Amino acid sequence: MAEQPLIAPDHVISLEYVLTDDAGVELDSNQGGEPLSYLHGHGQIVPGLEHALAGKPVGHQTRVTVPPAEGYGVHDPDRIVTVGRSRFEFEPEAGQVLEASLPQGGSVPFIVVEVNQETVTLDGNHPLAGKTLHFEVKVLGVRQATAEELEHGHAHGDHGNGHGDDEHGHGQHHH
Ligand code: ZN
Repeated sequence: MAEQPLIAPDHVISLEYVLTDDAGVELDSNQGGEPLSYLHGHGQIVPGLEHALAGKPVGHQTRVTVPPAEGYGVHDPDRIVTVGRSRFEFEPEAGQVLEASLPQGGSVPFIVVEVNQETVTLDGNHPLAGKTLHFEVKVLGVRQATAEELEHGHAHGDHGNGHGDDEHGHGQHHH
């Protein structure tokens, strides 16, 4: 029997989690669904949670409180922008999420905060920026990453056939 692997860099970790805010309101969860698999040590989950899980074995269950700076960052007022309403070819609505394309490719989500007659206020902060995150996590799996996963910089699925090269161009990776 090999020794049970512990959570460490370049390992693929599978988790079940429930994320709540300070008020106990559930923000996200995968309980009863697909486990979340990530490549440890590569900044794929919020730093506060990644740090808390280091060195833990399969079956470990814990509650982790992550302050904004270790989560999705503090709320940055510089990321709130006001633009002319005439720039929109549609009627933006408060609460709507818009994708702004970046010159270097990819896109960033902006939440519409306020719509006035002449202007529209957008917030480019992560929706969870400034929030303290409360995670309830259970470690479902710990294994060494494959060479391919390390090369790609992310975990591949533990079920099915994985993905072929044709359906997995590097341009399509989610980050
Ligand atoms: Zn890949």
